[in-house]
Amino acid sequence: MPAVLGFEGSANKIGVGVVRDGRVLANPRRTYVTPPGTGFLPGDTARHHRTVILDLLQEALAEAGLTSQDIDCIAFTKGPGMGAPLVSVAVVARTIAQLWNKPLLGVNHCIGHIEMGRLITGATNPTVLYVSGGNTQISNDPSPGYNIEQMAKRGKKLVELPYTVKGMDVSFSGILSFIEDVAQRMLATGECTPEDLCFSLQETVFAMLVEITERAMAHCGSQEALIVGGVGCNMRLQEMMETMCQEREAKLFATDERFCIDNGAMIAQAGWEMFQAGIRTPLNDSGVTQRYRTDEVEVTWRD
Ligand code: MG
Repeated sequence: MPAVLGFEGSANKIGVGVVRDGRVLANPRRTYVTPPGTGFLPGDTARHHRTVILDLLQEALAEAGLTSQDIDCIAFTKGPGMGAPLVSVAVVARTIAQLWNKPLLGVNHCIGHIEMGRLITGATNPTVLYVSGGNTQISNDPSPGYNIEQMAKRGKKLVELPYTVKGMDVSFSGILSFIEDVAQRMLATGECTPEDLCFSLQETVFAMLVEITERAMAHCGSQEALIVGGVGCNMRLQEMMETMCQEREAKLFATDERFCIDNGAMIAQAGWEMFQAGIRTPLNDSGVTQRYRTDEVEVTWRD
């Protein structure tokens, strides 16, 4: 029963998780929260991660009730993500792997999200909607997506925003400019409220996502949908996806914030699958990369 230790730190979350044969034994996490109105810069975020990572490692092992000897493999996020935070976490993973004489596995962060969603929900062959937040430049108190979700609950009026879907592609460009340029005027005249704008933003963007997910399911004859990524814990998105799935007699799978927001166990779980499939990352190929597309990974552990 291999146990895999996973390190995640590609953005403002740092997490260390332990997974053993489909069970999450530990998954402690810390978030680097910057003052309201500011985003998180790579250097400061890396400094935060370096400060807490060894405490998190101790915490994860203690919670799992394991020692270094019980760990069979060290998995870490190879990318995508912010350069400096990725490096600071990879350095620790590489060092631990050498100290403990364990194999190393560089994991694609996006694959980690998907494997975690599959593990937690038990979805067997889902169409996956992976929704990650644009979370670096908006007021971070406690997180922009959460703030928009809460304000949207009090919105009543739907303001028409740019809606761009072509086949399986969506475009979000123009939405922010629209809100800044046009809707600001509507706020001034009292035609709508900030709550209405948050409501409209969610309804519009989520409708685009639900539309392409349904199209993918129709093309593939899929009866399961799985939402992963940090925005996947938005209850309104889950509700809209649920409506679409019910109309297709399909089943929706989603997780809560413990598992859809970046965490160490998701890297451990993807690492566990890779470990079982015989994949290893040699030390001389254990660098990180800020750009690492999901489809660059050859998934040999699934049919
Ligand atoms: Mg993520």
